[in-house]
Amino acid sequence: MVAGLTLIVAALVALIPPHAPWAVAALGIGATITRRRWLERHTVQSMSADCPRCATPLGIDRPTRLRHPHAISCETCHHEPLLTLDISASTLGVS
Ligand SMILES: [Zn+2]
Repeated sequence: MVAGLTLIVAALVALIPPHAPWAVAALGIGATITRRRWLERHTVQSMSADCPRCATPLGIDRPTRLRHPHAISCETCHHEPLLTLDISASTLGVS
């Protein structure tokens, strides 16, 4: 998906002078995003929970690469709870 979109964007931006730098930049950015998606082991589709310190609702509403550890910033108390994944139980937790 990203690779195909990269080729289309690179072809379109190559029409703008100076042609080559835009196409090379689009291909480089697309290759970087494609590589990151290719190496991505786990993706968080969405998540909602409350901050363990102040109970402010926290959430992820678009697909995001799960990092290890995956910190989520609370805008209210500036605490950064960690999103954990228990693969054996297939559950998410915030601590
Ligand atoms: Zn908080």
